Amino acid sequence: MEEDATYICDSCGEEIVVPIDVTAGRQQEYVEDCPVCCHPNVIYVAAEDDGSWHLDSESES
Ligand SMILES: [Zn+2]
Repeated sequence: MEEDATYICDSCGEEIVVPIDVTAGRQQEYVEDCPVCCHPNVIYVAAEDDGSWHLDSESES
């Protein structure tokens, strides 16, 4: 089962849609290169109580 969520790239400001692997847990953290500007971002995934997913991102320096 997969769901989508979005984050804002810290580097280029674009909204990026990423699939969430719901089997990987309610708290996830991984590094993904922005598909727009190729800047690596650390993505923090958290499941909300209402079943939605919240993403935070920060630039990986
Ligand atoms: Zn970007």
